[in-house]
Amino acid sequence: MQPFRIQLEYRDGQLINIKLQKKINWRLAFVGFFCCFFVLTLFYMFFLTFAVNDAEMYVHSNIIRLTKMQEQRFGMAYKELPIVVIGFPTELSTTSPGNKSTIHGVFSNNIIYLKKLPVLLPGHTLRNIVLYLLTWGNVYDIEQLLHHELVHFYFRNTTFNSLVGEGIAEYIAREMVNNTIILSNWQNVTRTKLVSIVAEPLYYEIAYAVVKPIVDNHGKTGIIYVLNHPPAENEELLDYQKRMMKEVAR
Ligand SMILES: [Zn+2]
Repeated sequence: MQPFRIQLEYRDGQLINIKLQKKINWRLAFVGFFCCFFVLTLFYMFFLTFAVNDAEMYVHSNIIRLTKMQEQRFGMAYKELPIVVIGFPTELSTTSPGNKSTIHGVFSNNIIYLKKLPVLLPGHTLRNIVLYLLTWGNVYDIEQLLHHELVHFYFRNTTFNSLVGEGIAEYIAREMVNNTIILSNWQNVTRTKLVSIVAEPLYYEIAYAVVKPIVDNHGKTGIIYVLNHPPAENEELLDYQKRMMKEVAR
């Protein structure tokens, strides 16, 4: 039975009310709190463990489908599939921009490395929201990232030193997942500024914005042309984009 305390209310010496006040059982409350904490921690750990393993499962079950999607949409022709490793190798995590927390995928030595983190899965909105909140946003969209790294694999271009390489990988990946919003005012970023933000999210936004109209207008021809004609040294990005639009159209 719940313990309670009796409270009597008097006015002018007359008893006017009797209140029963529940007494808090602190020992029970503590045990309850501890149990809740324990269960939530277990849930958190299991959920995150499964969410990390989801990356491997997703790659295994979907990589062929993603290459087929790219083939259909952009006329690419994958002759082989890449090796995909979940987890960055030590040398990448210490010596390259891959150690930046915002980088979740790296294409190196012909291998695609995906960071060992919980991943957002297409079509699982509720799960993704919970995961995003639990990890404070330290997750990535596995579908878009795998598309992006597949493009690096297909064109065999390295990840970090090429604006057009990143632009094309982003373009194809974003088209595949219908995420085609362009950053406004990207034209204001100078080449000098660009060097200082390599491998940051803004760098990818800009790389994407630079190549988008060229590929929008010229498709596969635009992709190949841009990959073979990176910007000249110190050429500003808008000038480069205009020049490419003219040259590809010839
Ligand atoms: Zn990339």
